[in-house]
Parts: sequence; structure tokens; C-alpha cells
Amino acid sequence: MVTELSHFVGGTHVAGTSQRYSDVFDPNTGGVQARVPLASKAEVVTAIDNAEAAQAEWAAWNPQRARVLLKFLDLVNREMDSLAETLSREHGKTLADARGDIQRGLEVIEFAAGAPHLLKGEYTTGAGTGIDVYSMRQPLGVVAGITPFNFPAMIPLWKAGPALAAGNSFILKPSERDPSVPLRIAELFIEAGLPAGVFNVVNGDKEAVDSLLEDPRIQAVGFVGSTPIAQYIYENAAANGKRAQCFGGAKNHMVIMPDADLDDVADALVGAGYGSAGERCMAISVAVPVGQETADALVEKLKERIKTLNIGPSLDAKSDYGPLVTAEARQRVIDYIGDGVAEGADLLVDGRDFVLEGHEEGFFLGPTLFDNVTTDMRIYREEIFGPVLIITRAENYEDALRLPSEHEYGNGVAIFTRDGDTARDFTARVNTGMVGVNVPIPVPIAYHTFGGWKRSGFGDLNQHGPDSFRFYTKTKTVTSRWPKGAKEGASFVIPTMK
Ligand code: NAD
Repeated sequence: MVTELSHFVGGTHVAGTSQRYSDVFDPNTGGVQARVPLASKAEVVTAIDNAEAAQAEWAAWNPQRARVLLKFLDLVNREMDSLAETLSREHGKTLADARGDIQRGLEVIEFAAGAPHLLKGEYTTGAGTGIDVYSMRQPLGVVAGITPFNFPAMIPLWKAGPALAAGNSFILKPSERDPSVPLRIAELFIEAGLPAGVFNVVNGDKEAVDSLLEDPRIQAVGFVGSTPIAQYIYENAAANGKRAQCFGGAKNHMVIMPDADLDDVADALVGAGYGSAGERCMAISVAVPVGQETADALVEKLKERIKTLNIGPSLDAKSDYGPLVTAEARQRVIDYIGDGVAEGADLLVDGRDFVLEGHEEGFFLGPTLFDNVTTDMRIYREEIFGPVLIITRAENYEDALRLPSEHEYGNGVAIFTRDGDTARDFTARVNTGMVGVNVPIPVPIAYHTFGGWKRSGFGDLNQHGPDSFRFYTKTKTVTSRWPKGAKEGASFVIPTMK
């Protein structure tokens, strides 16, 4: 049976009225399990009306706002297993990985519960004779988050946590591929005591996104997704006078120095390259061994480990990774593998023919490994977003450093070495936003910020951490003089501090 999903506006589920829908698949079977309505402009406007009406009261709820977030944490933790199962069924990532997706989002809610501290302003007493200057952080009003399919719990919470804690109301436009967890999150916020209208979910596609971009009441847009859409949203949000932070695609390299422990490296590469079927913005997709000996030894270890990978249904605890999100996503990856072969890369392991017995219609792909990939090849230049790991060999350290630094994407990078001096030099000089040293996926934690450089991120403030509060608030600066001054008569000279 195909479930019909809804929007969530004004504290309740609202059926779609546009008559436009998108299918939500079960990637394990290839079947359609639900259809999600795609909002019209009028439906988006109604959601913004609700958010606008609810915002002022919510902004006045200090310090109860943090208490709502703490209650929400309890509710999500209580429901962790069933949320993870819903997520896994729509996305295709394993149950353990789905729990991690939710947990990483909750960590930002925990951080955001400290909002009163993060909203504190600055104060200068006696900036001039009898003059005090102070600043306060105020909410922007109604703000929006537009999020990708690959972290349907974590990324909406990265956006919503700080935005709500700062006193904004929020419209979430989640991915149309896996909208059920965001809808359940909206219900749990209400159960936690969030006033109706403060957190709304509008499902949709370009029409909904454009409606958010065009409405003057939306003050800020936080986006995560592919680079062309990130750039589109950044440009159009700015053209409409809105703040925007837009995070895009990636091509994360791992540099392997000759002194690295190659067993550790191979384990790290297999997990970071093939975990979640490679559908992570922080997946490692390019391995850069330094020197031919390192490369040859690494290739042997990778081939051995790949043989042992267990690709299976996402709900099976034995699976290392599950299916891709849609048949289209799977085909896109298959096309890239074909390109790699045509351009002359060495295909060492080919995942295209993988079939999972009993799940022949599921969107599964085996792991693929390419060696001797050069920088002019499409499989090096573009984000594949699938279980494909490529090896680009470097002659020496400087060559290896140049590769991620010169790539158009600059999300994350990792280096494996036993030498502290090399690691220090690498972290200082590499041109990417997030760097791992002897860790496969350098994902910062909630109280630091997350954001890529170059074409992986548009805008000047990162996600979560203190930056997220700067993004979702505006600073008001007050200069005050008590009790005398005005009594002495007007001054016609620009005020200077005496
Ligand atoms: P996507 O760009 O297709 O979709 C992201 C969002 O934009 C969705 O809500 C979608 O409905 C909307 N959208 C799609 N096409 C649109 C259009 N033409 N106009 C307006 N809105 C549109 O991305 P995806 O496939 O859902 O997610 C995968 C991508 O996200 C990968 O490129 C991945 O690297 C990236 N990603 C980046 C980060 C990061 O922090 N940099 C994190 C996770 C994912």
C-alpha cells in the first residue's frame, strides 16, 4: 500500500492540494512505499503566514525555549529505534548508520540548548563620559532550511536547532526522497511543547524552494545539497535581500604518506569510501598514496578488504552498506564507472554487476575501485556520490598536497602519517575547510562549526557551533547615556567619545 504523506503547518499535518506528487521508494525492494505532495506557491505562503504569526511569542519565551529543546531530546531518544528504521527504509543506509544520522543531529540540539549563553551580547561601560555601549542578539524572524536526502535527520536539526533556540520560527523544505523522518520530527517538537507554527515542514521541489526564496518574510535560508543548487539558492537568496549559507558537493581526498600504517589506512578507506554506499558529503572518494610502493601495497590491502564487504538490505544488521537512494542515483553511478573505463583508468573492482538475491529490483551496487586515475578524468573532477573509490597516485608529498588544494571542491580532506611535522604542515597549507589527521572522516562536533571551502560552500558563516547563532540572529548595538546629556541641549557636531 502506498502511504500519502503531508505537509506539517501550524502544528498539524496538512494534506497537499497542488495535485503534484513525488514517489518515495523503498530502495531495498525498488517499490514505491509512499508519495509526497509537492507544495504550490500558495501552500508555501500559508506556511509562512503560520510561521510569522507564531514567531513573536516564541521569541519572548526565554528561557523556556531551551527547555523545549531538552524535552525534544528526550522524546527523540525514546523513539530512536523506530525513527532509525523509518530513515533506513527510505534512505537505504544501515540501521546503525541511521542512528548515527539522528544522533549527530541531536548533538546540535544539545548544543543549541545552551542558547542563552550564545545569545549574550557585549557590554562596555564608560565608552565615553557617562556612555555605555552594549549589543544584543535578536532573532531574524521567519527563516528556512532546505536540506538534502542523504542526512534526513541530522541536517534538518543542524539548521532548526540553532534557528529555533535563537527565537526564530522555521520552515523546513526537506528532500522529497525521504521526508518521513522530518515529518515525525515536527510532531515531536509539538509534543515537546513547541508552539504551533514555529516549526513547519513544507514538502516540495523547485516550486516550493523558489516560493521561499521570493517571499520577503523569509529572512535567511540555510541550504545543503549539490553544488549547482547551492549556488542557485545563494545567488537568488542574495538577490532577494536574504542571508544565505549554502553548502554543496565534495570530492574528499585522503593522502597516505609512506610512513602510515597501511592496515589502518585500508580500514579507514573502506569505511569512509563505501559506508552509506558513498552517499555522504564527507565520504572519502579519492585516495592519494605517496610513492609507487605505498600505492602498490595499499591496492593489495584494499582489494582484500573489498572482497569481505557485505552489501545487503539496510535493515539487516550484517550489512556494511545498503542500496542507493533511487534507481536514478544508481544509474548515475554506473554511468560514471563507464566514463572511468572509457577515459583509461584501471578498473580493479567493478561493482556494476552486483545483484542481491531476493532483492533484484533494489538499488544496490557493489563496491568499485579504480587505480591510476588522472586529474583530467571526469571521475576525478566530479562528485560521484556512490560506492566508488578512486586512487590518484602522487610522486611526493608536495604533489599530494596540491591535489585536494587545487580541486574545485574543498569540503574535507584527511592525511594518514606518523610524522607530526608533516601533519602540521599539511593542516596549515591544505586548501579545504575540514581536515582530518589519522581519522577517516573529519566531521567536526556540534560545538565547532562545519563547512567546506571553494565550491563546497557559499556564504561566510558555517553550520552549527557559534557560527550558526551568528547566522540565525542579528546584532543590535545600543549606545546609551544616563542621566544627563540631552538636558544640556542639542549638539550639531558628530558625536565622538571624550
Ligand atoms: P540536491 O541538490 O538534489 O537537493 C537538495 C535540496 O534542494 C532538496 O531539498 C531538493 O528538493 C532541492 N532541489 C533540488 N533541485 C532543485 C532545484 N532545481 N531548484 C531548487 N531546489 C532544488 O542534493 P541531494 O541529491 O538531495 O543531496 C546530495 C548532495 O548534497 C551531494 O552533492 C552532497 O555532497 C551534498 N551534501 C553536502 C553537504 C555539506 O555539508 N557540504 C552535506 C550533505 C550533502
